[in-house]
Amino acid sequence: MNKYKIIIFFSLFLSIGIVSKVYASVNNYSLLGKVIYIDPGHGGIDSGTTYKNIYEKDINLVLSQKLYKELTDRGATVYLTRDTDKDLALTNTSRKRSDLINRAYLINKTNPDMYISIHLNYISNSKWKGLQIFYNSKKNKENKIIAQKLTEYIKEKTSNVREPKENNTYYMYKNITSPGVLIEVGFLSNPDDRYRLTHEEFQDVIVSNITYGIEKYFNEKNNK
Ligand SMILES: [Zn+2]
Repeated sequence: MNKYKIIIFFSLFLSIGIVSKVYASVNNYSLLGKVIYIDPGHGGIDSGTTYKNIYEKDINLVLSQKLYKELTDRGATVYLTRDTDKDLALTNTSRKRSDLINRAYLINKTNPDMYISIHLNYISNSKWKGLQIFYNSKKNKENKIIAQKLTEYIKEKTSNVREPKENNTYYMYKNITSPGVLIEVGFLSNPDDRYRLTHEEFQDVIVSNITYGIEKYFNEKNNK
């Protein structure tokens, strides 16, 4: 390559860089280059927690699919551990364990910038409500930061948020090396939360708040 060819090559390289940056900001591709793995809890014969004919597995899937769209629209590469009503068990014996092992395997294999497990809470006392984030502090030191930051940012949008909680005993999360958290989006046992979780206009708000949190976490990390 002679000198001029090299100059042309590098100016082309540079302008592609500038154009793609401008393009990214115009289209709000704020999560371009990020890989996010969404894990809708339960599925198939495993309904998760239930209230009458409302199944946790169905709400987890709807919220996850909405989150998938929001994150993809912002340029992220997004994966779902499931996008239909099925579990991920590979064996019929110890089906639940096989399901969890497989989810952890899929996430580890991809090694995303973040995984998000979506679940719903249930407690016999119906007064408890709100979104709550759980993290494993032993597996990846970023997990606690993600839990704290997401909680802080989601709080900017809604007061219906509980403090993040450490949990190092949940089987699945002890097996995931990538950074991430479990979001218990709300309590199916609480009437207010239940109403929100089962009505699309409120589901959209919940997903928009989580998206805002994820977006802000990565923006802040990029600017460090
Ligand atoms: Zn669950």
